[in-house]
Amino acid sequence: MYIKESKQAYDAIVIGSGITGGWAAKEFCEKGFRTLLIERGRVVEHRKDYVGEGIPPWEQPLRSKVSLAEIEQQYYVQKNCYAFNDSTKHFFGNDRDLPFETTKGTDFWWIRANQLGGKSLLWHRFSYRWSDFDFNANKLDGFGNDWPIRYQDLAHWYSYVERHVGICGQKESLPQLPDSEFLPPFDMTAPELHIKQQLEAAFPDRKLIHGRQAHLTKPSAHHLAQGRGQCQARNECQKGCSFGAYFSTQSSTLPDAAKTGNLQIAPNSVVHSLIYDAASNRVKGVRVIDNDDLSEREYFGKVVFLCASTLGSTQILLNSRSKTFPNGLANSSGVLGHYLMDHNYNAWAKADIPGFKGSFYSGRRPGGLYIPNFYFKPDPKRPFLRGYGMSAGAYREDWQALKNNDGIGIAFKQQLQKPGKWKFSLGAQGEMLPRFENSVQLHAFKKDKWGIPQLEINCRFSENERLMMLDAAEQGQTMLEKIGLENVSSGLHGKPPGSGIHELGTARMGKDPKDSVLNGFNQSHDIPNLFVTDGASFCSSAVQNPSLTFMALTVRAVNYAGKEIAARRI
Ligand SMILES: Cc1cc2nc3c(=O)[nH]c(=O)nc-3n(C[C@H](O)[C@H](O)[C@H](O)COP(=O)(O)OP(=O)(O)OC[C@H]3O[C@@H](n4cnc5c(N)ncnc54)[C@H](O)[C@@H]3O)c2cc1C
Ligand code: SF4
Repeated sequence: MYIKESKQAYDAIVIGSGITGGWAAKEFCEKGFRTLLIERGRVVEHRKDYVGEGIPPWEQPLRSKVSLAEIEQQYYVQKNCYAFNDSTKHFFGNDRDLPFETTKGTDFWWIRANQLGGKSLLWHRFSYRWSDFDFNANKLDGFGNDWPIRYQDLAHWYSYVERHVGICGQKESLPQLPDSEFLPPFDMTAPELHIKQQLEAAFPDRKLIHGRQAHLTKPSAHHLAQGRGQCQARNECQKGCSFGAYFSTQSSTLPDAAKTGNLQIAPNSVVHSLIYDAASNRVKGVRVIDNDDLSEREYFGKVVFLCASTLGSTQILLNSRSKTFPNGLANSSGVLGHYLMDHNYNAWAKADIPGFKGSFYSGRRPGGLYIPNFYFKPDPKRPFLRGYGMSAGAYREDWQALKNNDGIGIAFKQQLQKPGKWKFSLGAQGEMLPRFENSVQLHAFKKDKWGIPQLEINCRFSENERLMMLDAAEQGQTMLEKIGLENVSSGLHGKPPGSGIHELGTARMGKDPKDSVLNGFNQSHDIPNLFVTDGASFCSSAVQNPSLTFMALTVRAVNYAGKEIAARRI
């Protein structure tokens, strides 16, 4: 299955093996297309290469911390990710090898996972559908270009993806958050059920619901056939999960693609650029630099799907310059690289929950609860456009609450063994507006070790995002106070764009080829056999975690491309 050189002309070439690339490969292979999946990083085998799995912190030299020297040398950006530690660091990109620039006065945390499986190994699995309020938002308030699709265009593909992935959650019939095809949710704890009741009574426009996540709480026969098993609620996911109980390329899409016999994978193959043939106006193939020995090779195919992550895909397009496309391939519109977005996680609120001293739980639920966006309808009186969702959850303090206290002897040890107070926390996830000036371009002269120009990222949160986070902190405080929680506090972090790890935009879709790169099927307006199906294609960010929508867009695009190929239009 793994190859290096190849003389074959493939039916489909998929670049990137993360969440979107895994899906594209599976769908093409299952349709009978001879498919090449190109991945810049090393092979990570399901189970065998989850080297941090099952190792508790006390068996690690630095108790799961990474040494400062290692961070300074290799992980000075990746260290900012909450999931970065000694058991997961091998799944993060190496900052020394993957340099990028930020425009003076700006900051961007570009979190990367450059190996087979990409960020599908590391993600937190929150999976929410978008609604028509989201697809209509740009059109309604005039900020950003109109999406060329609506919810109905994706509804079928959401279901298709969800049945395969396995999303746990509960039906709520909310207009702003369409229900998925659900497996049972993880339980709420007693304090959470109490807070839900209080909050929904005090704020009728708000709901506290189960987080929706790509976990097999009750696997179907279809999931078991993928070789996956039931989630054990141990919250060790980002180390890799041998049960295959959360969705990743390794656990789910790759094995299905491999079963068809139509898949070949070229690992350690850093895509430098796409090979464009002006005479036929087609992408003929892909130019690759070997990750290890830096030698060059080429692969050829009939259709190319870019799934190299939002900024990875755009970097490849920008670097594929030709006489026809001097400013980047498929960039006749001039918007390639522009309208970069992320989510803004900068507001928080927390409180103590009185009572529930006799309430305990077992297991470690690998996720939390969610307050869907209650500002989903535009309101000219609000001082900002769009809205935010909130992640939420209750937890019980353990010995760690006393870790900074002085103490010694039996009494102190006994105190450490007692469960502490119940706490409740809220964290906002705000929409970021698409702005032309938030952009990426190729650096004029700085290159990486593969000779690829580095990306220069120029991205800032705007006044709209600042006002939105102030509101989120204030609303969080108000909600927690009103429902009778104690010691309520709220505030703002100062994290820059990129910290949401939901990069979106830079090769956006649109109806008009003059102001967009892709049409409503993620197909280049300029070059019919070129598709981009990751977050680069987004016209707005909404508030929901985006990867479920990436998956739905990808399978829809493959289905469309398959028909176009059969009809010999591409
Ligand atoms: C800690 C963490 C938590 C997250 N939680 C959530 C969540 O709860 N919900 C959610 O929706 N999203 C979440 N995300 C984001 C989610 O992981 C990404 O949106 C998703 O993985 C993007 O899929 P992708 O296929 O576009 O890119 P990736 O999964 O990043 O895969 C891209 C692949 O392309 C390869 N590649 C890049 N450039 C090249 C090149 N030049 N040549 C060859 N190959 C290349 C990379 O090596 C990589 O394997 C989280 C991310 C992280 C890190
Ligand atoms: S919580 Fe579930 S998905 Fe996560 S590591 Fe444990 S079994 Fe795997």
